[in-house]
Parts: sequence; structure tokens; C-alpha cells
Amino acid sequence: MVPSKTGAKPGLHDVVIIGAGFVGVATALWLQRHGHKVTLIDQDPFNEGAYFGNACTIATYANIPVGTPAVIKQIPNLLLNSRSALSFRWSYLPRLLPWLYRFLLASTPRNVEHIARNLGGLLCEVNNAFEPLFKASNAHELLEINGTMYLYSSQQSFTNARADIELRRRNGIPVQELSHSDISDLEPNLNPLYHRGLLFNDGYHVRNPLQLLKNMGHVVSENGGRILTSKALGIKRTSADELSIMTDNGHVRGSKVIVAAGAWSRKFASQIGDKVPLDTEQGYHVMYNGAQALLKRPVGWADTGFYMTPMDTALRAAGTVEFGGVDNPSNPRRVKLIADTVKRLLPQLGDYDSQWTGFRPSMPDSMPVIGPSAKDKDVLYAFGHGHIGMTLSGITGKIIADLISERPPTIDISPFRVDRF
Ligand SMILES: Cc1cc2nc3c(=O)[nH]c(=O)nc-3n(C[C@H](O)[C@H](O)[C@H](O)COP(=O)(O)OP(=O)(O)OC[C@H]3O[C@@H](n4cnc5c(N)ncnc54)[C@H](O)[C@@H]3O)c2cc1C
Repeated sequence: MVPSKTGAKPGLHDVVIIGAGFVGVATALWLQRHGHKVTLIDQDPFNEGAYFGNACTIATYANIPVGTPAVIKQIPNLLLNSRSALSFRWSYLPRLLPWLYRFLLASTPRNVEHIARNLGGLLCEVNNAFEPLFKASNAHELLEINGTMYLYSSQQSFTNARADIELRRRNGIPVQELSHSDISDLEPNLNPLYHRGLLFNDGYHVRNPLQLLKNMGHVVSENGGRILTSKALGIKRTSADELSIMTDNGHVRGSKVIVAAGAWSRKFASQIGDKVPLDTEQGYHVMYNGAQALLKRPVGWADTGFYMTPMDTALRAAGTVEFGGVDNPSNPRRVKLIADTVKRLLPQLGDYDSQWTGFRPSMPDSMPVIGPSAKDKDVLYAFGHGHIGMTLSGITGKIIADLISERPPTIDISPFRVDRF
């Protein structure tokens, strides 16, 4: 390990992290636990990323990739039905084609088994990796441990989910199947439009993800880490043991650089020479202030692809997928789709109070990129966590800190390498 010129002790590094979302901040905390110095760079800290509006679930059960044989079979229907979980901005389609091609390849039964096994391996480590971070940042008062529920509106949609249920079980994820009356006992305020459901008893949720991220960021600062409000523009190697990050506020130097800029990470990887098929699945939420008591736990409505989650001071309905790139503006039709469906499920609700759209960092195989660049061993990647980036942030940070400290990670990370495509 090369001591850095920037003042860190031998064996320890000055690490610069681009992106202060959950992945960047959890990585900073793990690096500090190993004694490294960290600088986080974010253009708009604690305001702008996918963390701001997510569905709040720590989804330890979520080992099923987005692309499966069942999803591929439903694609024509999903595309033609304007009320489905998935939509496209058609003008973006030509740019998305290479990603879609890889998505199709990743969706074969054999590849889905491989992905579910590897995501399952990461998910097994989620709680252990979060524990010290949660303890340090008073997270326990923001957590609600009450499971997570999925609902299916018809026998057909429940039958379509059968392969996923078995795949979870084969990977050791407990799934409880719920009857109509089980659901009404657990969530009596829901309009009984559901047919069957699932309960993931091990799932839990964060009542306010933004607050949790701020708490974690506060600990980074208390530990001596710097959080710079700057837009990173590029990464350049300046010497054998130093890299420089150009920002709109000057240069920041370090001996290691972590790219954790969520959906905006691809350009940094390509500057280093790594081509990654990272794109985005845009998602939406609507908020109902004061309505959190209507549900006891996050409830996912599988047919439309969103969760309704009771937060600290509001009920949030968040989810759906739109392919349109990171510059796509908010699409009022997606917001209306969520709001209309929520109103059917919880007719007690009035109009929503606020809405949001954000960008999941999505790889075609639903697996993140975690590990060193194939071109420069001092640049490490931690992005592409798709639908479960908050859930996987702690374990990602732990793996990156292990790699930088030259300790073997607790799991095989070769499935997550940047050059797997
Ligand atoms: C609707 C919706 C619901 C979701 N629900 C869940 C859920 O229930 N559970 C779950 O685990 N996950 C969920 N997710 C996914 C999760 O939110 C993301 O996977 C996760 O936030 C990604 O974390 P990240 O740190 O990689 O990226 P982000 O949270 O997007 O953070 C990236 C950061 O990089 C910064 N950045 C970007 N470019 C630059 C630059 N050039 N210079 C400096 N800074 C830069 C951004 O400002 C941002 O702060 C959901 C996402 C959406 C959209």
C-alpha cells in the first residue's frame, strides 16, 4: 500500500468519494472505521439523490432481478398498458437498446438463478454491515421492524409470482403466503381489492431515509471527514500514488477514489476506460401528510410496482419504472397512476401533498458494480444498486473498505466486477 502525499499515515489512505448518497456515506463510515481519511464530494449533499424519495424499505428479501422470464413474457402487455409498472420515453429507446439487449440476456432462467444467488449473498450480510453504522448514527430510532407485505390483485398475478417465491425460498429467504383474510387482519384499513399476498417478516423500514442519511453524514464529519459541496467533473491520475478529482471548485487529491455517484457514475468509469452499461430506472413518489397511521408496514402493490410506506409524519407511495435517461423530466401520467391506485387501495386518503421523481442507478442484470476499476486499481466502483441501493449500502461500504485495507471481503465479489459484461 502506498502512503499518500496528502498526509495519511503509511498503510492508510486519503480516499475521495464522489457522491454522498447512501452508498457513498456508508462507504465513508466503513473507511473511517478502518482508519482511512475520507473526503466526500457531492454537488448537492443530502438533497438530490435517489435516497431522497425512495420507498424506505430495507429489503433483505429482494434477491429477484428486475428481468425474469415472467417479466419478459409480460413486456408487450406492460408496454401497451399505460397503467402498468413500466413505461418508456420512446425517444430514448435507441439509446437504451444496448442496455435492453443485456437485460434480455440477463433474464434467462439460468442467469436469473445466478443473479438471485449472488444478490442473496449480499443481502445476507446487510444487517451485520449496517449494525455499527446504525449504532453510530442513532438509526435505531428511525427504524420500524414490522416486516413488509406484497399484494396481488388476482389469481393470475399471484400465479405469475410463483417462480419468484420459489426462487427466494431456494436462496433461504423466508416468505409467508397470505390469504385474503390474513391480509385484512394485518392491514385492516386497506380496501380489500387484493386476492393474495406475501409477508417478508425479515424486512424492515426506515421511517425517514433522508434523516438517516443526514445522521450518517454527521458522523462522517464528527470523525474528521470532509463533505464538499462541489460537482465532480473528472478523475485524473497525477502520479503513481495520487489521483486528482477536478470539480467546479478546484481539484481534490487522494490516493484512492471511489465512484459512488449513483445513476451519474457512468461518465467517471468511462473516463478511466471502463465501459459500463449503467442506465436509470426513473421512479416516482407521492406523499400524504399525516396519513402514516393507515398502514403498519410497507405494502407493495405488485401489479403497479409501488410501495405504500408509513413514514414518521406521512404516508409515501413510491415506485414504478420509467426508462428515459437521467435528464427525463417528471411525467405527470406516472404520478397520476400512483395517486389513482393509492386512492383505490386507501379511499380514506385525500389529495397528495407533494410529489417527487428520482433516478435509480440500474445495471441490466440488477447487480451492482462493487470493486476496483479494470484499468486503474486505485479507482474503485460502488454504483448500480438499482431498486435496493439503500438496503445494500452498508455491505457495499464494508466491501470497499476491506478492499482498500487489503483485507479479503467476507463474500466473493467477482460477480459484481465492472468488466463482467
Ligand atoms: C422510487 C424509488 C423507490 C426506491 N425504494 C427503495 C427501497 O425501498 N429500498 C432500497 O434499498 N432502495 C430503494 N430505491 C433505490 C435507492 O434509493 C437507490 O438505489 C440508492 O439511493 C442509490 O444510492 P447511491 O448512493 O448509489 O445513489 P444516490 O442516492 O442517487 O446518490 C448519488 C449522489 O451522487 C451525487 N452526484 C451525482 N453526480 C455527481 C457529480 N458529478 N459530482 C458530485 N456529486 C454527484 C448526487 O448528488 C447524489 O447525492 C428506490 C429508488 C427509487 C427511485
